[in-house]
Amino acid sequence: MTTLVTGSAGLLGAALKKISVGDYYFADRMDADLTSYEETVALFKRIEPKRVIHLAAKVGGIEANKKHPGSFFYENMLINLNIFQVAKDFKVEKLVSFISTCVFPDTANYPLSSKDLHIGAPHSSNMGYAYAKRMLDVQSRVYNQEFGMNCITLVPANMYGPSDNWNIKSGHVVPSLIHKIYTARNNNESLKVWGTGSPLREFIFSEDIARLTLFAMDEYDNQEPLILSNSVETSIRDLVEKIAELMNFNGKIDWDISKPNGQERKPSDNSPMRTLIPSFEFTNLNDGLQTTIEWFESNYESIIRK
Ligand code: GDP
Repeated sequence: MTTLVTGSAGLLGAALKKISVGDYYFADRMDADLTSYEETVALFKRIEPKRVIHLAAKVGGIEANKKHPGSFFYENMLINLNIFQVAKDFKVEKLVSFISTCVFPDTANYPLSSKDLHIGAPHSSNMGYAYAKRMLDVQSRVYNQEFGMNCITLVPANMYGPSDNWNIKSGHVVPSLIHKIYTARNNNESLKVWGTGSPLREFIFSEDIARLTLFAMDEYDNQEPLILSNSVETSIRDLVEKIAELMNFNGKIDWDISKPNGQERKPSDNSPMRTLIPSFEFTNLNDGLQTTIEWFESNYESIIRK
């Protein structure tokens, strides 16, 4: 029974490759362009998956989302429309796809709860991405209603880990900071970080999300999006200090307040997840960052060649 993992070259795909055992096919851009219906069909014909972990998406940090909201909307909508329709036609038994805590309404009640996903507009910085991702919840529900398809959605908080996007313009905060601090330390330069440092985020190690994904694939069959989070908030200022310390960076830190802060915070309610899997232990931030930094430093040459 083959499980197809789409978008497997990214952060969560790498973590799944590391921990999964059995019959998995890890697809990336070389296998198919999932914005093309024909190529999506050809991929499913070739792999004949019974289960799909759908990771493929156009993703990026706050700057990329602000600059290209139309592209984020278009590509994600196309990919998701194709995956659901083709999975239905190929009688896939289970489809797991991924939303994100950053697509919740900007003015939602805290902690974020899956019930509030659609009750207001997302933050203006990621409008295109957020609405396209919210549609995964709609798609899962309507494909379940009409075709009885077993599709679930998972909602991770801010994920980080090895094999992330290390591009300092388009990446998320953790990989960007590691990359920038590495360069600043080695060149004896000061470090430039974005915003004021006050925003709070829940940082989750990618391997934790991978373990929870495999659990949900086997055990979670509910239409309600399942938030995957440790519900521990860390400020960007503390994050910068932590990474600087772990990387032995003692230089000056400049805050560029012309860059966007994004949402001030997005604390999430992980109680449904805790009820399902009470014994789950999250990797603490220091250990996860240490592993990620070591991975970055030992893969630096191949990262900058990309
Ligand atoms: P978000 O969680 O969707 O807002 O996405 P990001 O991971 O891109 O940004 C999180 C927070 O980190 C925002 O408040 C940014 O302003 C802040 N930040 C500080 N320095 C950086 C940086 O070098 N890159 C990114 N992407 N964010 C940064």
